[in-house]
Amino acid sequence: MNKLLMLPGPTIVPPDVLLAMAKPVIGHRSKEFSEIFEDTVEKLKKVFITENDTFIITGSGTAVMDMALANILKPKDKVLTIITGNFGERFANIVNSYKGEAIKLEYEWGDMANPEDVKEILEKEKDIKAVTVVHNETSTGARNPIKEIGEIVKDYDALYIVDTISSLGGDYVNVDKFNIDICVTGSQKCLAAPPGLAGITVSEKAWEVINKNDDKVGFYLDLKAYKKYFDEKKQNPYTPAVNLIYALNKALDLVLEEGIENRVKRHEKLAKATRAGLEEMGIELFAKEEARSVTVTSAKYPEGVNDKLREIMNKKYNIVLAGGQKHLSGKIFRIGHMGICGEKEILATLSCLELALKELNFEVQGSGVEKAKEIFKE
Ligand SMILES: *Cc1c(COP(=O)(O)O)cnc(C)c1O
Repeated sequence: MNKLLMLPGPTIVPPDVLLAMAKPVIGHRSKEFSEIFEDTVEKLKKVFITENDTFIITGSGTAVMDMALANILKPKDKVLTIITGNFGERFANIVNSYKGEAIKLEYEWGDMANPEDVKEILEKEKDIKAVTVVHNETSTGARNPIKEIGEIVKDYDALYIVDTISSLGGDYVNVDKFNIDICVTGSQKCLAAPPGLAGITVSEKAWEVINKNDDKVGFYLDLKAYKKYFDEKKQNPYTPAVNLIYALNKALDLVLEEGIENRVKRHEKLAKATRAGLEEMGIELFAKEEARSVTVTSAKYPEGVNDKLREIMNKKYNIVLAGGQKHLSGKIFRIGHMGICGEKEILATLSCLELALKELNFEVQGSGVEKAKEIFKE
C-alpha cells in the first residue's frame, strides 16, 4: 500500500534516491567505496555549511546525539540542556546515562528558548562543559533561536551542541556562522533519504576537548576512530550501510540542485499554507506563533476529536499523520511537511482532513484547501 507520509520523519523518499540503492553491494574497504563515501561527506558538509570535520555514522539520529556527548563527557561534568520538548529532554537523558549532570533549562512545550536565560546560567555556573539545544523541536512543532544562542555560547568555554535532525535541508542552518561546535542530523527527515544514517560535525574547539578526554566510555561511537579512518582512508572504522550511502549521496544531490535558499523558502511556504489551511477550518495551532517550525505543524484536536482523526486519515485516505508525544498524546496531531513535500501533498492532506473532521461531526468553518491554494498562489 502506497501511503502518503506526512510525518515529521521518515519522509517521502524520491524514486531516484530509492533507485540509487538498487546497485550491487561493494566492499567497504575498496577504493571505489572510499570515493563514493568521501563524495557523500563533501556534499553533506555543503549542506551543513561547514569546514569542520564531518562524519557519517550508521545509525539513527539518536546515535549522533549520543555520540556528541559520549566523546566529551566525564562523570559529573555539567551540561546545560535546553528543553522545549521530547528531543531536548533526550539530550538530558543521554547526559545522565554518562553520569554527567544535566542542568535543565526548561520551557513550556510549544514555546522556544530565550537566549538571555542561557547567558544568565553560563555566567552563574562557570564550569559548564556544553550546551545542548534542539533546533526544530519535532515533538511540539516549535523551533529554537540557534543562531542567537550560538552568539552567546561562543564567548564561553562550553561547547555548543545542536540537534538539526528535523531542520537540516528544510530550515536555515549554517554550522560555521552559527558557531556550532557539534551539529547532528539524520537521513530520514528534511534530507529525504531512507532512515539509517546520521551526520555529525566537529569543530576545532570540540576536538580540543575530545582529545583530552581519556575517561570517556563506549566504543562504537568513538569520534577519534572515525577521524583516523577518514583521514587515512576516507572510510569508516566499521562496516557502513553501503547502499544507504548511495541513497544519501543522491538525496544530497537533490538538495544541492534545488539550492538551500530555495529549499528553505519552499518549506516556509508549505508551513504557511498548512497553518492557514488548518486555521481556516477552525483548528487551533499548538506552537506559539513566534516559535512555529517551518518543517512540522502541530495542531490541537478540537473538542470531541481525538486520535480517531489520524486513524480515519490513515485507513480511509492513506495519509499518515503523527500524534502527540508524552503528555501531548491524544491532545495534538502533527503534520510533517519536510523533504520533498510539495503543494499537492498539502492540498491533499487538507482536503482529506476536512472530510475526516466532518465524519467526526466537527463543524468545519471554512475551506482549508481553498485558503492554502491562495497562499501557494502568492
Ligand atoms: C527524529 C528526531 C530525533 C531522533 O531521531 P531517530 O532517528 O529517531 O533516532 C532526534 N531529534 C529530533 C529533533 C528529531 O526530529
